[in-house]
Amino acid sequence: MELNGCWSWCGYRSNGYGQLRIDRTPYVSHRVAWLSLVGPIPEGLQIDHLCRNRACCNPGHLEPVTCSINLRRIPKGTQKLKSHCIQGHEMTPKNTLWQGKGKRRRVCRACRSKWNADQHLKLKLRKQHALAA
Ligand SMILES: [Zn+2]
Ligand SMILES: [Zn+2]
Repeated sequence: MELNGCWSWCGYRSNGYGQLRIDRTPYVSHRVAWLSLVGPIPEGLQIDHLCRNRACCNPGHLEPVTCSINLRRIPKGTQKLKSHCIQGHEMTPKNTLWQGKGKRRRVCRACRSKWNADQHLKLKLRKQHALAA
């Protein structure tokens, strides 16, 4: 389904969700948008993004669903896979590690070994430091 015209929240974002404060209480922007433009959110329901844009506040892209539906909607393995990691390494099958619950999290092998090397170096430096002190 193609949904156009996302109302992306331009303010502060937390975890990809738009966030705003009313009387010092943090609210997610799409819930506030639903409450003010559509109406009350039925008890026990969550507002799901049909467009999968977490920062979107367009009520036409939102739908109250139960928690379990919301979880079920996240298509397994069909989320758009990035071709490169944040450091710009190509995510080839060879350079990709699958980690986490059900091996669904993709980790860049190059980044991970660099991170490991960094940790190793830090540890080494700390030891040297301890010896020098
Ligand atoms: Zn949207
Ligand atoms: Zn990488």
